[in-house]
Amino acid sequence: MTGTEHAVDALVIGAGAGGLCAAARLAHQGYRTLVVERLDQVGGRASTHDIDGFKVNNGAIVLELGGIMEQTFAEVGATYDVRMPSPPLMYRIGGKTLDITGGGWGFLLSKLTRQGAKLLSGLGAAREDSGLPEAQLSTADWVGRYTRNENVQAVFRNMCASVFAVGSEELPARVFLTYFTRKSAFKKFGFAPEGTVGAMSALADVVPLHGGEVWLSSTVRSLRVSDGLVTGAVIDRVRGEQTETVEVDCRFVVSDIGPVATAELTPDLPAEYVSDMRARSRPCGMITVNFASERPLLEAPGLTSFGKTRRLCYIANFTATCPEMAPPGWHLYAGAGVPKPSVGDFDADAETELIMADLRDEVPGFDEARVLSVAVMRDGWPPQRAVSGFDLPSETPIPNLWNVGDAVKEYGNGGTTACAEIAKIVVDKVTEHYPAAART
Ligand SMILES: Cc1cc2nc3c(=O)[nH]c(=O)nc-3n(C[C@H](O)[C@H](O)[C@H](O)COP(=O)(O)OP(=O)(O)OC[C@H]3O[C@@H](n4cnc5c(N)ncnc54)[C@H](O)[C@@H]3O)c2cc1C
Repeated sequence: MTGTEHAVDALVIGAGAGGLCAAARLAHQGYRTLVVERLDQVGGRASTHDIDGFKVNNGAIVLELGGIMEQTFAEVGATYDVRMPSPPLMYRIGGKTLDITGGGWGFLLSKLTRQGAKLLSGLGAAREDSGLPEAQLSTADWVGRYTRNENVQAVFRNMCASVFAVGSEELPARVFLTYFTRKSAFKKFGFAPEGTVGAMSALADVVPLHGGEVWLSSTVRSLRVSDGLVTGAVIDRVRGEQTETVEVDCRFVVSDIGPVATAELTPDLPAEYVSDMRARSRPCGMITVNFASERPLLEAPGLTSFGKTRRLCYIANFTATCPEMAPPGWHLYAGAGVPKPSVGDFDADAETELIMADLRDEVPGFDEARVLSVAVMRDGWPPQRAVSGFDLPSETPIPNLWNVGDAVKEYGNGGTTACAEIAKIVVDKVTEHYPAAART
């Protein structure tokens, strides 16, 4: 069945963190909003699946508290049910678990090296623009200017891997330092008790509250462009047993699928723009092992980060704060690492084996744990669609077509927080171009 059945103000392609933050803001501000999501649930790479009663996240595991994501929820009137473990982060270095709460960087570095003060002064200097290093210098090389201590290098690699999903050898030091000196830097974070999908569903629920719709199991096939503007889309919509092809008219489009995929849907984009987006696209990779045990395996109630490991950068302990994420009596964990190289091709089997070896070393009892799934995330399902510092533009050559999501982050940000930030920036631009008085 084909037909023009719908006319909306805002068409949002994709119900990932970026698309939902934008859609909730637009709907809340009175724009008739349609979100189209090809999967049968919302959240994209910030969602959750049930495996035998365990709530296993398929991407983002922690959400920031006190930052732009929580602010987005507050502004659109959604409940931000995210529980902070206490302490949120501990380090496991040389067989000991360290709680750095209150002492921060200084305390951590003082435990690792006598050169800690020099490194701290480098961090301090980066608060001034003149103290930021040259753009090409990697975080690993920046740390190397201050210390040769292997545990310090390892802590920085694992920090880059945890926040930016690339190793310190692949993250510009400027990005790292910008994040820690100028951004909210994930100082407070927590887990959503329903899994990350719980938080994303709360955002999605805002859309129908304001007269909008969220179509699941539906795919935007192409965008219609006329006189240099997007005027609508062709969408395959699954309803019950049937797939119908629907045409939707819209005043503007916010796409959450990354500029490369958006360009594939959009005729008439200049060839140079399309090839530039393809050439600059740098998705990275990450491997997560989801495991469970009937006896507790970790001391830390939130995230444990590590010093020297082969690949493992963190383990999340979900059930210490969110017991509802596992069947009664069970403890749920996820251990993750970024491969080498973290951008481009890697040997998934060999890299997974390195993470498993780390888990055996770091988690006494891991061999008796139940491995629920091993997820190798890359290419079309990456931990970041663009490595931070190599982000693509949110604007396109078509003035009423914008991108949101982690491919088009602001400089020096990462993950769902960055998605919430760019969604606000794009929605602010939309409201400027389509002021309330002009709304139909
Ligand atoms: C292993 C891993 C761990 C992570 N850990 C964290 C963390 O702890 N904290 C954090 O903040 N971030 C974390 N991240 C990063 C975070 O998950 C992402 O940055 C964020 O979820 C990306 O959201 P997005 O909106 O850019 O895109 P996506 O989540 O990719 O959303 C895009 C959506 O568009 C849909 N879609 C695609 N094409 C179409 C089409 N043609 N029509 C309709 N729909 C379409 C897709 O199905 C998808 O749902 C992690 C990521 C991974 C993979």
